[in-house]
Amino acid sequence: MKIHIITAFPNLILSPLEESIIKRSQEKQLVEIFVHNLRDYSTDKHHKVDDYPYGGAPGMILKPEPIFACIESILERFKISNPNLLFLTPQGKTFHQSKAVELSEKDHLIFLCGHYKGIDERIRDYWKMDEISIGDYVLTGGELPTLVVIDSVIRLIPGVISDIESARTDSFYDNRLDCPYYTRPEDFRGLKVPEVLLSGHHANIQDWQEQKAREKTQKYRPDLLNNNKKKKD
Ligand code: SAM
Repeated sequence: MKIHIITAFPNLILSPLEESIIKRSQEKQLVEIFVHNLRDYSTDKHHKVDDYPYGGAPGMILKPEPIFACIESILERFKISNPNLLFLTPQGKTFHQSKAVELSEKDHLIFLCGHYKGIDERIRDYWKMDEISIGDYVLTGGELPTLVVIDSVIRLIPGVISDIESARTDSFYDNRLDCPYYTRPEDFRGLKVPEVLLSGHHANIQDWQEQKAREKTQKYRPDLLNNNKKKKD
């Protein structure tokens, strides 16, 4: 998968791409990530990419020209005719694991990061991007939300994490929370690991894990169980 990130603040993005699973996905050549600096597409001699909003509201707005030029350049250079364009915005549809699964199956993704007060509305009207929010709160820019989305997508690409089953048992994959886990030592300050996990009896362990996952979901996120019920009806 090729991932393009359009941003006026590339340094906010670069370092997390060099760590952990995202780094490994690139080393394994399963993912290629291109960070496009919006300022390179500004025709202004100071590489300005923002301007004051018409009507005099507070805050600055990302201008349309550099964003159009950058998107068009990506489409042309990478020969993309049917682009998967995503815009991270608090006004978008709330991100969910099922969306991560959907995006993990694409051959490319192009993320546009907003900043300041936002982007010129004509960009949204023209490009009809898939608009995603990571929650009902406001961050400074789309860079961190983009990293959140690409991290969740990349770990689902087959071959990226050594055991894909591990991702499939994570919370939300199947509308439920994950079960509890324990590691060594068996007894930590008198706090013991549940017996069944030490039994070596795989069927009993699996039953226990499923039961605990159900109990946790019932306790903390009963709404997920209702989603499952709705899906079956
Ligand atoms: N004025 C905008 C509004 O109220 O909808 C918020 C602008 S915010 C300060 C700047 C940029 O951060 C946004 O354009 C968006 O790209 C990003 N952003 C902020 N919060 C976000 C969220 N919860 N989810 C996704 N992107 C977000």
